[in-house]
Amino acid sequence: MELKPYMGYSREAGSFEGAVLIFAHGIKEAKVLAWKEMRYDIVEDYMDVAVNRLWEKDWLFKDADQEKLKQGIAHVVISPTGCRSCELWGEELNDEGYCPDCEEEYKINKRGVRIL
Ligand SMILES: [Zn+2]
Repeated sequence: MELKPYMGYSREAGSFEGAVLIFAHGIKEAKVLAWKEMRYDIVEDYMDVAVNRLWEKDWLFKDADQEKLKQGIAHVVISPTGCRSCELWGEELNDEGYCPDCEEEYKINKRGVRIL
């Protein structure tokens, strides 16, 4: 069975406070891996672990451990490649490494309008 990408984070704190990228065969496996990775750090208890399937985000596979991916071994990526500006991940980054939100801002900045 193929590995699928999931995002794991604290239900209470929200994904902006820290999220890990998980490659797993199913949501249960993803949740167990998320818990092992984030317990006592990002999440307090198992009930607080939230896991979302990331649909149609094939570029996330670039961040996977390619060897484990090939062998079908579920694993966690603690620091996926994030946007150059806001450091968030989960959206496709452009060639310059910006997410769609920051790309918009960057274009405006290039036109000479400063946004602070
Ligand atoms: Zn960004």
